Amino acid sequence: MRVYNFSAGPSMLPLEVLEKAASEMTEYGASGQSVMEMSHRSKEYGAIIESAECLLRKVLSIPDNYKVLFLQGGASSQFAMIPLNLMTKNGKADYVITGQWAKKAYKEGCRYGQCRAVASSEDKTFSYIPELNSADFDKDADYFHICYNNTIYGTKYYKLPETGNVPLVADMSSSILSEEIDVSKFGMIYAGAQKNMGPAGLTVVIIREDLIGEPQAITPTMFTYQTHADNGSMFNTPPTYAIYILKLVLEWIENIGGIKVLEEKNKKKAALLYDFLDHSEMFHPTVMGASRSMMNVPFVTGNDELDKKFIAECTKNGFVNIKGHRSVGGMRASIYNAMPYEGVEALVNFMKKFEEENK
Ligand SMILES: *Cc1c(COP(=O)(O)O)cnc(C)c1O
Repeated sequence: MRVYNFSAGPSMLPLEVLEKAASEMTEYGASGQSVMEMSHRSKEYGAIIESAECLLRKVLSIPDNYKVLFLQGGASSQFAMIPLNLMTKNGKADYVITGQWAKKAYKEGCRYGQCRAVASSEDKTFSYIPELNSADFDKDADYFHICYNNTIYGTKYYKLPETGNVPLVADMSSSILSEEIDVSKFGMIYAGAQKNMGPAGLTVVIIREDLIGEPQAITPTMFTYQTHADNGSMFNTPPTYAIYILKLVLEWIENIGGIKVLEEKNKKKAALLYDFLDHSEMFHPTVMGASRSMMNVPFVTGNDELDKKFIAECTKNGFVNIKGHRSVGGMRASIYNAMPYEGVEALVNFMKKFEEENK
């Protein structure tokens, strides 16, 4: 029996996608081979990667002057690739520190140039998105970096910083494909695939063409955006199977009516859970008000023993991976695209029952 998997990543994939992949596992179309066994330079595989890119462009309405790159190394490699490739004019960049990923990106950036933390929410365990005032931004920064959805702490931006001509770079690992976004507002968007796009091993970069240029002199060839842009993400072997699964996920999104439909579904799921948490006597959300993530919902009882008991009972009853990140404690329900409304409903009912029984 399949469980409701609330993992923050790698996370649930739509059952339809897994079933389709299973049906094509040993023979893709009339190719006589699994996608895993195909040459990445074959005609069959060429059609798969092209279709993945086309669908991503369509689903996210990516303008023509943006390149889509299929890379490896996780979102974490981007923490270095971004400064190496973009911090090349004035050698400085602004970062907003809204959690561990944002901080890691900032620290890595500091190795390659002058990075400045414009604002931080660390004073309250990253439970909010700090107020940002463009007067505080460096007009000469080569880019401005944000972590759009903070996977560990459960916050997200509802208003983008006004960076003027400074390109906005966003880590969207845990929110990409969950809502409509205006790509043209960003210089670059990047995401590890394992939260909302597919399996681990694929990293997607969407970058405005004019930002792809000469990197810093020390940059390895494989860490140069130009290398991958010039070669259609085929400078070396791309993560072929992960790209194929992304294609299936994008087809699934198209089939349910596109990103707007998905966004409405995600809003309903999040509202159901937050509404319960806001009224429960036992469970409390850790993020208040205006910066709540639609994808990652951390909550606590305020009693470590009770948290433990709840997590154990969840696991026994088919609600898995609900333990919070070690830095926040308590619980975290990640409710990405593939989590059905029924899964959140079942969780809320289970929480109600647990609360009743453990008063
Ligand atoms: C998971 C995650 C990362 C790290 O991704 P890797 O692919 O494991 O390197 C970075 N940023 C955010 C926002 C994440 O959710």
